[in-house]
Amino acid sequence: MKKAVVLLSGGLDSTTALYWAKAKGYQCHCLIFDYGQRHRREIESAKKIAQKAGVSFDVIAIKLGWTGRSALLDLDVKLPNIPLEKIGQGPIPSTYVPGRNTLFTAYAISAADALGAEAIVLGPNVLDYSGYPDCRPEYYQAFRRVARLGTKRGVEGKSLKILTPLIKMTKAQIVKLGAQLGVPWELTWSCYAGGARPCGQCDSCKLRAKGFEKAKIQDLIYA
Ligand SMILES: [Zn+2]
Repeated sequence: MKKAVVLLSGGLDSTTALYWAKAKGYQCHCLIFDYGQRHRREIESAKKIAQKAGVSFDVIAIKLGWTGRSALLDLDVKLPNIPLEKIGQGPIPSTYVPGRNTLFTAYAISAADALGAEAIVLGPNVLDYSGYPDCRPEYYQAFRRVARLGTKRGVEGKSLKILTPLIKMTKAQIVKLGAQLGVPWELTWSCYAGGARPCGQCDSCKLRAKGFEKAKIQDLIYA
């Protein structure tokens, strides 16, 4: 069976990407990162999702010695409340974590080379997003070259694909796809704040709400 390494954060995009990979016939192994994020809720969500999906996973602890004053790493930096129509339009917001996807994708390349996986599956997208530079198609295009040049698989001429199936999809399209694939929305967690309920004010909550509203699908996290 063909294998894939999937980066799973516990949010709706990476969970949809996991279910997409399963539907494509990949045997999936998820990487879940404990990188000192603001709350542990998303790590717990990711673990539950992997278990529900019946896939193996590793939780990888990364200790960053620097933060860049990110609202996702420094509890004293307030989460921004940006109007929905301005999300992704202005300067890079304080929720940006410096180089996060570069770190995660590098781990995925290592895991794929070690486990004999022919693909890495990730859930970035650039239509309804916060404007992070490490979500863009050209960034992943560069990483495809890195995967080819920097791995045993690549040198031996075996493929190591970096698949970003959601990259040009709107949040509503992602929600529709996730619904078709049977994504357990109630287990996913998108909110940048911790808490028992999503805050409804952060970029991630607003984009998620917009997606479900436009897709005309009920978000079971609020059920
Ligand atoms: Zn929120």
